[in-house]
Amino acid sequence: MLKLNENYLKLPGNYLFAEIKNRVNAYKALHPQAEVISLGIGDVTRPLDKKIIDTLHEAVDEMAAAETFKGYGPDQGYRFLIDAILENEYAAKGVALEPDEIFISDGAKCDTGNFQEIFGLDNTIAVTDPVYPVYIDTNAMAGRAGAFENGRWSNVIYMPCTAENNFAPALPKTKADIIYLCSPNNPTGTVMSREELKKWVDYAMENGSVILFDAAYSAYITEDDVPGSIYEIEGAKETAVEFRSYSKKAGFTGTRCAYTVVPKALKARSDNGEWVSLNKLWARRVSTKFNGVSYIIQKGAAAVYTDEGKRQTANTIAYYMENARIIREGLREMGFQVFGGVNAPYIWLKVPGSMTSWQFFDKLLNEVNVVGTPGSGFGPSGEGYFRLTAFGSRENTQKAIRRIQEGLDL
Ligand code: PLP
Repeated sequence: MLKLNENYLKLPGNYLFAEIKNRVNAYKALHPQAEVISLGIGDVTRPLDKKIIDTLHEAVDEMAAAETFKGYGPDQGYRFLIDAILENEYAAKGVALEPDEIFISDGAKCDTGNFQEIFGLDNTIAVTDPVYPVYIDTNAMAGRAGAFENGRWSNVIYMPCTAENNFAPALPKTKADIIYLCSPNNPTGTVMSREELKKWVDYAMENGSVILFDAAYSAYITEDDVPGSIYEIEGAKETAVEFRSYSKKAGFTGTRCAYTVVPKALKARSDNGEWVSLNKLWARRVSTKFNGVSYIIQKGAAAVYTDEGKRQTANTIAYYMENARIIREGLREMGFQVFGGVNAPYIWLKVPGSMTSWQFFDKLLNEVNVVGTPGSGFGPSGEGYFRLTAFGSRENTQKAIRRIQEGLDL
């Protein structure tokens, strides 16, 4: 008889965004005239920049002639993009990597989700709490997370990140083999300092652990001393995999392009005592299960590194970060405790008084018709917090903050 992967049946529903939609729809049904503004958008809203669009058009035209037509591409990605990444993202920061340490992919979601496949099922995983849910759910699907009880997985180490510890996760008390870190962080918008990252690299070195470092928002870092890559930290090439994406850096959420760095120095010991390169295993996995990102899209991603591309994408990021400033400062003026929004497009606020995240959601929706995301939806330590994002239009962002300032009954 057909057997299911029973691990899938343990997964909780995608409750958070469905519940937000239900509550907004219920409100709109009762108040059809209300103009509800969402500051909960986790997706970019600005169009692709001109240099990228022009390059995409040129690449499409190349497909129309036999001389320039492209079929299957190299498994790990085209060299023109890999070389541009090595030069602009890493060499510029003093980080030397080799072309075969970069894997072009169709998203940091897929790669952060799939990477766990090359590890044994009896590893212990540790995640920061609150967390981007993909890390936990993919381990749960694989059967590594245990049972889901009272909002927690029994085999997952949750590392609370709250205002009390300045959003810097403490080293786990029990040994963690696979550690997920995300900086700049979704949902808290906070970043890990060089010292913090060094602490984790040292921990991984001492314990033979691996760090899966999600840097999908690295392009939003504005402060000089914040590391954009974990490889800026000594020892990271022996302990960490890094995930980057063009989704938020260049508006590729719908276009799809990202990359993962797996240094060849990163090794784990097999059951027979042999040291095995994770790069080799990931390359094997990619060549078996993936046929590459389309040539056209990789050309578009490479255009990000031209002079015009750099200028235009920086302007778009600056647009979002001005929204972040408007939200951050507007709320702070009102006396809210606000975090993030300086090196990330996310603003994480402490909800006033003893309200829960969902109570604050309802208050914001009912009193000023503004929608955000309850922090409790990202993990137990998100309770009492609330996420707002900078991805809306300037007009809506300004309007939403004005409404909160003028209409919210605190
Ligand atoms: N990692 C984090 C922390 C994210 O917030 C997101 C998107 O919201 C992703 C990865 C997904 O990136 P991509 O669009 O490259 O799949």
